[in-house]
Amino acid sequence: MSILEKEVRYCKGVGVTKARDFARLGVETLKDALFDFPFRHDDLSNRIEISNIKSGEKVTVRGTIALITNRRSKNNNRMIVTEAIVEDGSGSVKAIWFHQGFLTKVLKNGSVVSLSGKVDDKYGLFLVNPMYEVIGNGNITKHTGRIVPIYSLTGGLTQKVRRSVAESSLEGVYEVKDWLPGGILKDEHFVSLHTALSNIHFPNKMEEYEVALERLKFNEFFLHQILHGKARRELKQKVASKIPFSETKVKEAIAGLPFKLTNAQKKALWAVVKDMERTEPMNRLLEGDVGTGKTIVAALAAINATASGWQSAILAPTEILADQHAMSLNKMFAGQLTIAVFTRTKRRVGEREVTKKQMLDALANGKIDLVIGTHALLSDNVLFNRLGLIVVDEQHRFGVKQRQALKDRQGDEDGIPHLLSMTATPIPRSLALVLYGDLDRSLLDEYPEGRQTIDTFIVTRSQEEKYYQKMRDQIDAGQQVFVVCPLIEESDALGVQSVTEVYNNFVQGPFAAYNIGVLHGKLKAEEKNKIMAQFVACELDMLISTTVIEVGVDIPNATVMFIEGAERFGLAQLHQLRGRVGRGECKSFCFLHLSGDISDLAKQRLQAVVNSQNGFDLADKDLKLRGPGNIFGTDQSGFEAFKLGSYADIDLISKACDYAKDYLDEDPDLDAWPALKERVLEYIDEIHFE
Ligand code: ADP
Ligand code: MG
Repeated sequence: MSILEKEVRYCKGVGVTKARDFARLGVETLKDALFDFPFRHDDLSNRIEISNIKSGEKVTVRGTIALITNRRSKNNNRMIVTEAIVEDGSGSVKAIWFHQGFLTKVLKNGSVVSLSGKVDDKYGLFLVNPMYEVIGNGNITKHTGRIVPIYSLTGGLTQKVRRSVAESSLEGVYEVKDWLPGGILKDEHFVSLHTALSNIHFPNKMEEYEVALERLKFNEFFLHQILHGKARRELKQKVASKIPFSETKVKEAIAGLPFKLTNAQKKALWAVVKDMERTEPMNRLLEGDVGTGKTIVAALAAINATASGWQSAILAPTEILADQHAMSLNKMFAGQLTIAVFTRTKRRVGEREVTKKQMLDALANGKIDLVIGTHALLSDNVLFNRLGLIVVDEQHRFGVKQRQALKDRQGDEDGIPHLLSMTATPIPRSLALVLYGDLDRSLLDEYPEGRQTIDTFIVTRSQEEKYYQKMRDQIDAGQQVFVVCPLIEESDALGVQSVTEVYNNFVQGPFAAYNIGVLHGKLKAEEKNKIMAQFVACELDMLISTTVIEVGVDIPNATVMFIEGAERFGLAQLHQLRGRVGRGECKSFCFLHLSGDISDLAKQRLQAVVNSQNGFDLADKDLKLRGPGNIFGTDQSGFEAFKLGSYADIDLISKACDYAKDYLDEDPDLDAWPALKERVLEYIDEIHFE
């Protein structure tokens, strides 16, 4: 019986309710738990004798409980205070817990315990809210006296339960096949996969953790490089639809635009239509900061395709964005293109709502020239008449498999569609070369004329009233305000707490008179859509959300972006958030609100955002100021959502890249390394089902 296939709900201390919380974190089986890594570790290994503890230190002591009692707090009658005296032969110390009355049931007189926590000296030396663990006869501790893993939690989950599930999962670590070719293992002196998995959770020393991390990151990069290298090689052998450049039609469309294209847009469009003329499938990345006008380039490429009878599809990351793209493009090109939107909940051709069947028929008959949709477009029953061009907007995991999933009714004679990917995530050049290899790239390094700069201010705690007033002024003038909150608590992965906190402050204080909507990860999709729709319709003055929530929509009426705890975000991310405003005619503002005193370095970083309006520059600055570790911030998963690796690991990435190339050169089918081959196939499925 496989250990790793066991469902976590059968683990000790889990049960149905906690299993539901686990499921929200994507952990259903022990295998999931094994691969759900801690996001940091706390070093509680400073174990000392009680007689040696000093105020202010974080320590672990081990001793016997001599006394434990509950009482009510003198200041707050509703709060239970638990006090215990612990002795270890060298001396004794008091430990105090708040709101944990149950502890007298868990820790009894005479229990041998290990306690980790901070030493305070307000009333003589004592430990404040220490982590506790009862030590039986054995000597091994899991939660104290060692380096302990800290995991993302949600709902009623605790680190203790999460750790015990991790521990159970490690019992099955030997079921995991180490698929990395032995040659690489040997040459790079990597630890085995089993050791790595064990030490990524429970290292005895931080060095063990580092080594494990290196190995697991390499796994990610190598697999990624193999997959993409393989895909590129396969793609090169495929034949694509040859779509001639319909110069007159494209020029007409450009002439009909309400604005002049930037030179960068013209250049990019030119490159795209040239690519489309060839039978080698286009694989081009269109990069450009927020607001540089990528969508128009894609739409003009679609016009070019339509001119010779080809259909195009744009894949957007969310339903709201798909809908917005469709509406704005429909306004511009209604006479020239039949544009449809197709998501789980929205189906329109032009401005007409249609049934699913009508939509599928229209796609299959070729009545629709350009369809804009979400992943719903990739489902099996969607067939095109002649699909010539796929555009992927800010969706990084789109690959060969998805390209194949978009099916053409004509079958193979038409060849495979050309692919244009678009992104606003700035990636340093050096890195892009390694990551994309021979992918063609176009950069929109120019902003449309008349684009306004967004006045950006750093707001300290003492200044906030002044800026709240500015926000009220904007709302009173009919504008709208975005408020974005950082995820602070690890237990608040869905952002409920941080958003609620700000909301409560605002409705009870500075914004009591206004309509405020909140968005967080716990809301259902329909609720989110409803609130977004209300904001779009101007029924809400203010929208408070985390970044986890898609604020990528175009709300020209919003003129203020207020970022709470701004020092917690990456610069590129701050810039992208700022790009949500300044989309209309009106002067727009970005307020970077600090959550407290911050370091000079942090101030310098934020000052860079105040001074520069260019996301690619800011990414470079962040690289210089903070070192490579932090370019993309933590909750901006970047281009390929590596679990552990980041673009900062450029050396490891290029190493993985070189190895992947060598291995593919030697045997493109990977038959020489069956375990690797199997892992690659599995990986393709994992990506496909995301
Ligand atoms: P992004 O690159 O962030 O996806 P969009 O394509 O959404 O940018 O364009 C942002 C806005 O700028 C849209 O309202 C679009 O119509 C407008 N726009 C695009 N190109 C130009 C241009 N050359 N001149 C003026 N406005 C433009
Ligand atoms: Mg865009």
